[in-house]
Amino acid sequence: MNVLYPILIVLASAAAMEFVAWSSHKYIMHGFGWAWHRDHHEPHDNLLEKNDLFALVGAAMSISMFALGSPLVMGQGAWWPATWIGLGILVYGLVYTLVHDGLVHQRYFRWVPRRGYAKRLVQAHKLHHATIGKEGGVSFGFVLARDPARLKQDLKDQRQRGIAVVREALDD
Ligand SMILES: [Zn+2]
Ligand SMILES: [Zn+2]
Repeated sequence: MNVLYPILIVLASAAAMEFVAWSSHKYIMHGFGWAWHRDHHEPHDNLLEKNDLFALVGAAMSISMFALGSPLVMGQGAWWPATWIGLGILVYGLVYTLVHDGLVHQRYFRWVPRRGYAKRLVQAHKLHHATIGKEGGVSFGFVLARDPARLKQDLKDQRQRGIAVVREALDD
């Protein structure tokens, strides 16, 4: 088989996961899943958050795909693309945890990017944390980040229209 197919499947799956992350963050985590996501939006001194359970959901998705692609588990019914989809989900999970938990929330390391796209990622996600409670908010995706100036404008609009409770300082 052409080696290009697995590579394309991994890349497409990782890209699709940004959409899965965005939509589940916006409609599930800030919806009926808020009970698990809430502590990620509130200050605390605990090492772990209930919100970390969502990482286990992602891991379960990846593991299920690896199982589906494995002849050891599925025998004749193994579906080879599933292995590469599982790898794409895993790659996205690693990027997500490095960017979200590492770079933005400094759970593993402390490095504040001063310029470029890394700085924009951090600012965009900090602005996601600028709202109080589950209503409204901006920047539900992670790897694709909009211009922070536009996000701030959105937040001001949401505050004015009473859609969201927004923290006073929008500059850090
Ligand atoms: Zn959130
Ligand atoms: Zn966060």
